[in-house]
Amino acid sequence: MLEKVLIANRGEIALRILRACKELGIKTVAVHSKVDAELMHVKLADEAVCIGPNPSPQSYLNVPAIISAMEVTDAVAVHPGYGFLAENADFAEQVVNSGFRFIGPSADVIRLMGDKVSAIKAMQEAGVPTVPGSNGPLNSDDDRNLRIAKEIGYPVIIKAAAGGGGRGMRVVHTESALLNAIFVTKSEAKAAFGDDTVYMEKFLENPRHVEIQVLADGQGNAIHLGDRDCSLQRRHQKVLEEAPAPGIPDEVRQGVYEACTKACVEIGYSGAGTFEFLYENECFYFIEMNTRVQVEHPVTEMISGFDIVKEQLRIASGLPLSIKQEDVKLQGHSFEARINAEDSKNFLPSPGKVSFFHAPGGPGVRVDSHLYSGYTVPPNYDSLIAKVITHGNTREEALDKMRIALDELVVDGIKSNVELQQDLARDGEFRKGGVNIHYLEQKLGL
Ligand code: ADP
Repeated sequence: MLEKVLIANRGEIALRILRACKELGIKTVAVHSKVDAELMHVKLADEAVCIGPNPSPQSYLNVPAIISAMEVTDAVAVHPGYGFLAENADFAEQVVNSGFRFIGPSADVIRLMGDKVSAIKAMQEAGVPTVPGSNGPLNSDDDRNLRIAKEIGYPVIIKAAAGGGGRGMRVVHTESALLNAIFVTKSEAKAAFGDDTVYMEKFLENPRHVEIQVLADGQGNAIHLGDRDCSLQRRHQKVLEEAPAPGIPDEVRQGVYEACTKACVEIGYSGAGTFEFLYENECFYFIEMNTRVQVEHPVTEMISGFDIVKEQLRIASGLPLSIKQEDVKLQGHSFEARINAEDSKNFLPSPGKVSFFHAPGGPGVRVDSHLYSGYTVPPNYDSLIAKVITHGNTREEALDKMRIALDELVVDGIKSNVELQQDLARDGEFRKGGVNIHYLEQKLGL
């Protein structure tokens, strides 16, 4: 087992990783920016190193500072969490070249999946269903591009190969708008990502967002832990997630599970990962793979009884997967509500001092949060302050528990989206199950 792990992240996920390390007897190093010295996991870690000023480019994205911190503390591996450097292939490469382990897949695999064109190609080769599209980059041949769009059928979407975070895409409804849309998306992609490669896909009008959690050990073993539905989104940001995705025929989901685990073995994947799909009319369409632990991983842990972060640490230690597919038993239903320090009405961030914090409890309730009474939420980072997670034997029971848990939650001193989450937990349409990715924005009148 790894002896000492440096946690290159902050907030709730840093605390989540710290707890998993402690359970496995792994020593921990917290790294933090100036303002983050008061973070819960910094206080609980065996060692803590300040790696720079508050802006993340100078601290949590500062690769030389993080690698120096590993050298100084004799950490043997780094856990990147999510966000920041988690999907940065150059970082993973530098960590390994400096003689340390990166807790995640190899730099080559991160690079393969980070480029959407190469990711889609790899998935097609492995038999994972993808969105009908250009099967590769668009070139400067206008006639060819017009022909591809006609074959796919309008509406189509032009997407940047290097895109991320919901940026670098444009929907095209008519032939007359196509060439200009390609031109504009290319120049935007060049400016935003330094790469003007774009490709074309059929634009699915009313899909759901359904994703598959996988684990692979890089030794020829890969399993899945079922699926999650993350269709409740605002501006491509997930708000409330659940597992399993409701109402998907068993044979449809089994087929895609098998394709995903097979793909993991074929690309030499190791660690935890998520295949993201759009789901429409009982069909799955791959859009991208996240090569890291995700914010919403707890809903899968609740229905599988399996600790994904501990397994990441075991895999990075060189151990084979600790369970086989036939040992995975998914039970009941789980929801996760993301609590953000933001105004419920206009969604503006609301940093500041939390004068009082009270976490809900009871059977089937889990709270992943770094908050405590008196903690000050800094303005510099993501506004996620807590995740309220519930588990019940049925979807209804898990949602009822969520409603009760959210009513017990108290975050005083700053604004938060608790009210919005309380409203969603009582929403009649959502309760029926299976709303699409536009539902939340339509409900909010956006
Ligand atoms: P990013 O890496 O920026 O998150 P994705 O490829 O995951 O980009 O797409 C982000 C979101 O954009 C999806 O969740 C979906 O809402 C929308 N989207 C992407 N591709 C399509 C498509 N072919 N049809 C409809 N919506 C799409």
